Amino acid sequence: MKHLMASGIGFLGLSGKTLSHRAPEPKTEGRKNSHCYRRQSSVFGRTIEIAALPSKICPFDCIYCSQGRTLNRSVDLTYITIQKNIIHEIKSLLSECPAPEYIVISGKGDPAVCAGMASFIGTVKSITGIPVVVISCGGLFWKSNVQKELLAADVVVASLDAPDKTLFQCINRPIGVVPFARFLSGMMEFRSSFKGEFILRMTLLDGINAIEAEVKKLAGLATRVSPSKIVIQTAHKTPVEDFAFPVERTRLECFAGFFKDVQTQVIEAHTL
Ligand code: SF4
Repeated sequence: MKHLMASGIGFLGLSGKTLSHRAPEPKTEGRKNSHCYRRQSSVFGRTIEIAALPSKICPFDCIYCSQGRTLNRSVDLTYITIQKNIIHEIKSLLSECPAPEYIVISGKGDPAVCAGMASFIGTVKSITGIPVVVISCGGLFWKSNVQKELLAADVVVASLDAPDKTLFQCINRPIGVVPFARFLSGMMEFRSSFKGEFILRMTLLDGINAIEAEVKKLAGLATRVSPSKIVIQTAHKTPVEDFAFPVERTRLECFAGFFKDVQTQVIEAHTL
């Protein structure tokens, strides 16, 4: 693993690197102005993806985010006001394409800020009979009302990119009320009560957390969280910060070997 240590060249020493191994844009199909899309996910297969929020709201402002800077960093729940449109759009997509394996609720930002998520998930499941995935950053799991809402999902995906508070601040840039200790304890609390499949997503960045020692610490934390599965990816080709450098797939696969006794999957950036 010496070469992995050697490539951990530090947060500031990356300016000469190329972007040639950044991943391609994921493909989506949907109508213009639609909140729902057909999408092939490398983890969930054929999906219908729902962008639950009309604009980006998130407790984080990650340096690798592909959705631009978070202008509304918030932990306040907001009501989904477009629910009727979304249900109509899902029905329409279901009538014209093969049934998806999952319906995935994702951005913009973190859908966990949506109040009424449990009722929304219940409606989607009763109409479609298809399992529902929520992709969240996990930054709101310390809130008991958020935990209750997300228990309705069949699968929850949460992000864990940093093994300590320093890297958490560097990579995820959370709103002030979400320090690392609160983030982590919220995630463990939710995990212990959630009966569905709980997937941890890790985004590894060259010279920042894609360093043998940091990945080993992440593996230790993952053991404490006890996810059903770990998905490992790297930065998208258009990250918010140009120092959020991606990691070659072969190195991601090598890092995946640090996670013992849990299923791991390396994916191309943002094909989840
Ligand atoms: S948690 Fe996700 S949506 Fe929020 S800033 Fe990070 S990458 Fe972007």
